[in-house]
Amino acid sequence: MKIDNIDLKILELLSKDPKLSFRNIALKVGTSTPTVIEKIKKMEKNGIIKGYFTNIDSKQLDQHKEIFIINCKRDFLKSLEENDNIRRIFKVEGNRYIIIFVYENEDKLEVFLNTLDSNDIEYERFLVLDELKFLEEYFIPQNLKKLTCDYCGGDIRGIPITKKINGETKYFCCRACKDDYIKRYEKLKAMVQE
Ligand SMILES: [Zn+2]
Repeated sequence: MKIDNIDLKILELLSKDPKLSFRNIALKVGTSTPTVIEKIKKMEKNGIIKGYFTNIDSKQLDQHKEIFIINCKRDFLKSLEENDNIRRIFKVEGNRYIIIFVYENEDKLEVFLNTLDSNDIEYERFLVLDELKFLEEYFIPQNLKKLTCDYCGGDIRGIPITKKINGETKYFCCRACKDDYIKRYEKLKAMVQE
């Protein structure tokens, strides 16, 4: 799917606060609530928005986190994917995987370590002592984030003025641009019809 500037603005807002209401997003982006709902549903359907997560401090729940660097073949990977204690898997160069293993009781860890040993899997492990930074893993491209006026091409600062024309939402920097755009559009439409 093609991601437009409004989608990017929505993504940026949601990445900062997934609890924002559709209405609030619409107000911030300068479009209607149904448009926001439609756009979010579309991005969910297309897998651009994979989910909404709550960043819970595992330490406060008495859970421990370890990072493993595992050197294994693809077939062993399946068992890693099925293990609920493994919360994330990154494939990196050289048949290696970085995994984040979270557990609350040592038994789960023991079982996992035994599996690794019995399969002759090489690994390194690191106990996470503290998590110092957690951010979303993507950047909203700065150059795309800027909304430009569909009439004069100038940057739009603040809330844009919008108008649905021929089923497509158009964005304007000011009322004058919107009025002139509509005038030009009506003129063109009249010419086509003549
Ligand atoms: Zn303008």
